[in-house]
Amino acid sequence: MRNKASDLRTLCVHAGELKDTQHGGAISPLFASTSYAFNDVDIKQYPRYFNTPNQRGLCEKIAALEGAESALIFGSGMAAISTALLSHLKSGDHVIFQDDIYGGTRNFIKTEFEKYGIQYSFAKGLDASDFEAEITPQTKGIYVETPSNPTLKIIDLKAISELAKSSSLWTMIDNTFASPVNQNPIAHGIDFVIHSATKYLGGHSDICAGVVVASESIIAQVFESAKNLGGSLSDYTVWLLERSIKTLYVRVQAQNENAHLLSNFLQEQDWIEHVYYPGLENHVGHQIAKRQMHGFGGMLSFNLAQGIDTKQFLLGLSLIKPTMSLAGIESTALSPRLTSHALLSESERQAQGITEQLVRFSSGIEAIEDLKSDLLQSISKIR
Ligand SMILES: *Cc1c(COP(=O)(O)O)cnc(C)c1O
Repeated sequence: MRNKASDLRTLCVHAGELKDTQHGGAISPLFASTSYAFNDVDIKQYPRYFNTPNQRGLCEKIAALEGAESALIFGSGMAAISTALLSHLKSGDHVIFQDDIYGGTRNFIKTEFEKYGIQYSFAKGLDASDFEAEITPQTKGIYVETPSNPTLKIIDLKAISELAKSSSLWTMIDNTFASPVNQNPIAHGIDFVIHSATKYLGGHSDICAGVVVASESIIAQVFESAKNLGGSLSDYTVWLLERSIKTLYVRVQAQNENAHLLSNFLQEQDWIEHVYYPGLENHVGHQIAKRQMHGFGGMLSFNLAQGIDTKQFLLGLSLIKPTMSLAGIESTALSPRLTSHALLSESERQAQGITEQLVRFSSGIEAIEDLKSDLLQSISKIR
């Protein structure tokens, strides 16, 4: 089991790389074929069977980063999430979800599960006991997302996995916000780890992809549904994603550092009411995060002081981009209320702490002084 950061640096660069045996080139060649000669493996290689050379190489790399046996790469984070869930559920089954999961996931279960007769409920809090309270005889699994979007709530992974094991349930985590650099849930007993590779794994806001990481036997079952649902990723994008992950470790370290420095800086500003960052000692989940994460991540959020117009503040930024994307090497900021969480009802938003004053910030790798002065120049224009 990997848990030394120094190993991860090397794995990012080299795990799963393909050799260029024809020309001796330095990087993994791209094999774009959709058709291959039958080989001694009795399954034919085909992109929708998730087994072309580039797909297999990339899966090996991502599995290595999570300290897992196996992985499957998909055409989006939602393809990974929907396929993983549907592969392990049938009509009549029940799943327990953390309340503040990613909006697309929430929308998926709300609109699709009913059609298949799959039941679900949301835990009323973040403790293992809140999940335990929702268990029914039909419950098959628990689904969490930590740190969560946008207020970076933290769930104790060990407590959740122990609860699940004692009740014979599987556990699934959306590990997108942490990235494999900051958190490896399999080491804490979680069964399925999912990433929207559109975020940190891709890291440059130019790739849409997703991944499921788990044991060989779980991945074999996910594959049985995946080949029917057909959410595979093109080999061109697979190749580009493999290239992107080579710099994952250094990118995420720089993003962690910027997020931590910014959260300290913002806490001292009189135009800020509250900062949410798991690395801050006053964050509710700080002690758990310290135990289960290698780094606190590149995402933070904050409440602007009352009376400051959030929209004007975002529009006044010049270096920091006010966009939906996150986890790229460029810093971005948005109002969850107006964008990512606009589809929730007002009461759902209230329950998750998503107020008018809330700004979600995704730290890029720019110089910290440039980020600070951009924030300050915007605030000075509207005060
Ligand atoms: C973006 C995101 C997803 C969905 O990923 P797509 O690649 O857009 O399908 C899922 N979970 C989290 C936490 C995300 O940020």
